[in-house]
Amino acid sequence: MKKKILVIGGAGYIGSHVVKKLLEDGFEVLVYDNLSSGYEDNISKGAFFIKGDILDEEQLNEVMSQNIDGVVHLAAKKAVGESMEKPEIYAKNNLTGSLNILNAMINNNVKYIVFSSSAAVYGMPQYTPIDEKHPIMPINYYGYTKRAIEENLEWFDKLNKIRFVSLRYFNAVGYAEDKSIRGKEKNPQNLLPIIMEVATGKRKDFSIFGNDYNTCDGTCIRDYIHVTDLAKAHSLALDKLFCADKSYTLNLGTGLGTSVKEIVDATEKVIGKKLNYSYASRRLGDPDMLTANATLASEVLGWAPEYTDISRIISTIWNIE
Ligand code: UDP
Repeated sequence: MKKKILVIGGAGYIGSHVVKKLLEDGFEVLVYDNLSSGYEDNISKGAFFIKGDILDEEQLNEVMSQNIDGVVHLAAKKAVGESMEKPEIYAKNNLTGSLNILNAMINNNVKYIVFSSSAAVYGMPQYTPIDEKHPIMPINYYGYTKRAIEENLEWFDKLNKIRFVSLRYFNAVGYAEDKSIRGKEKNPQNLLPIIMEVATGKRKDFSIFGNDYNTCDGTCIRDYIHVTDLAKAHSLALDKLFCADKSYTLNLGTGLGTSVKEIVDATEKVIGKKLNYSYASRRLGDPDMLTANATLASEVLGWAPEYTDISRIISTIWNIE
């Protein structure tokens, strides 16, 4: 019998790649999404779609009653800057919404959940690469909501035997190579989507935030992980939950660092033209360097990233422009 997975937030950027992978791996997939930032067109053929909100407890309970074997929860507000200006939106959507999901799981005896967490739970790195034992000190409200949900998962594990895998993503980038997923974020805030808007003429120029960091070329270093590799980890995490019946918290990154300048240079090569940019002052709260130690994910899930070459990663974005 195929396992039936409810993917909440499955029409979004990462969610739609997860749905694609779960179908490829033989799961039955039900997508629940309010389409606030996702696109129905991005949901792979073969998945069943229900439009709904995680703040709608009644509808969540109804969906959860459909013999669900496991949940993947990716529905969240994710703009770091906005989370500092309007924390109440993040409290409601990310915190209340996630508690609604957990309550609906308990009501319907659904025991397994894969949660989309973030490296933002760590805050300023005290050392790199960051492993899961690194102190947890989020410096923005978004990161706090991710940690607070993890803490609730830990409590629900103890009290209700809900088993979870919390996946702490580093910088998610790229698109499926077969171009099946194309939906772009409106008003993107992240580096590569912004660069692509400049590359396609949608935006005039962009800024590199800071060139005086303590790194090889003075620009910030991040760990860019391809979304197809992230998606694969969700499928493996579900397999693990079903056989081990234990909870885990795992980093997902390549362990490789790439500077902003290296991203810009690699993009210029991939697209075959110069980009219009200038250097600006540092962005508040940006550490010099953030890279993942993802050894635990490799040990627990047998997961390893396939996309380790930044030009290849960038090509998968240029591919869909
Ligand atoms: N960045 C930049 N210009 C931009 C957007 C981002 O120089 O217009 C830098 C940012 O300072 C960081 C890196 O690119 O060092 C990645 O930023 P992003 O917002 O994509 O992800 P974050 O690391 O903040 O999660």
